[in-house]
Amino acid sequence: MIVTLIHHTPLIVCADAIRTCWQSFDKSDQGGEKDRELIDRVGNKFKHASTLEHLHYTFYIEGVSRALLQELARHRMASLSVKSTRYTLKELKEEAPFEATQLERAAQYLVLTGVEMVDQMSVLALENLRQVLAAGISNDRAKYCLPESYKTELTWSINARSLQNFLSLRSDKAALWEIRDLAHTLYGAVPQDHQYLFAASIKGEGHE
Ligand SMILES: Cc1cc2nc3c(=O)[nH]c(=O)nc-3n(C[C@H](O)[C@H](O)[C@H](O)COP(=O)(O)OP(=O)(O)OC[C@H]3O[C@@H](n4cnc5c(N)ncnc54)[C@H](O)[C@@H]3O)c2cc1C
Repeated sequence: MIVTLIHHTPLIVCADAIRTCWQSFDKSDQGGEKDRELIDRVGNKFKHASTLEHLHYTFYIEGVSRALLQELARHRMASLSVKSTRYTLKELKEEAPFEATQLERAAQYLVLTGVEMVDQMSVLALENLRQVLAAGISNDRAKYCLPESYKTELTWSINARSLQNFLSLRSDKAALWEIRDLAHTLYGAVPQDHQYLFAASIKGEGHE
């Protein structure tokens, strides 16, 4: 998977929002150490977590499965715009037949798990889909035989409060391995001077 941070709110916006409450704008150091400490103290330690909602992050996420997408979409406090499957199916229709062992070739369309039997079955499902498309069935109907491993991409926007919740739930070892990888990759893509806000939410490493 590839995660690119395409936009984020500077910390000063959140610090100024907090300073609105006490009209202490003169104490700001323009997003420096004092402001960073204020955001952490009010947003995290004092639990005025709504102040963290002033920080927004927009990511472009590529090469994740529809299985992951289904779980990502459960996070209601975020916005998604997903590449249309109708569009990607057009590319698949032009392909030559796939054999179960052609994992490298199929990886253009599928997220592979590293478990040979699962991945080969996934390629066979892709080949079934290709045959349906080649038979002239419309994309709107053909998409019902998409495997869960089918790759997609999306723009995902989320505020800092919700991102903390997402990272804490999805970096946990109880989460699906692929979304766990996404959680760790998202954390790595957050600007370095913002990472301290999320350090307590992130658990363990990506999947083994
Ligand atoms: C390990 C794991 C296993 C899971 N297994 C399953 C499963 O088997 N089946 C299944 O259906 N789901 C499952 N889920 C999904 C889970 O139930 C949540 O839907 C998902 O994690 C989104 O979390 P969220 O509601 O906190 O996030 P968001 O939807 O982003 O909500 C953020 C926060 O806003 C508040 N909020 C949002 N909407 C409401 C509301 N309507 N009322 C009150 N407060 C609200 C809550 O405080 C919530 O934590 C699983 C999740 C994990 C991490």
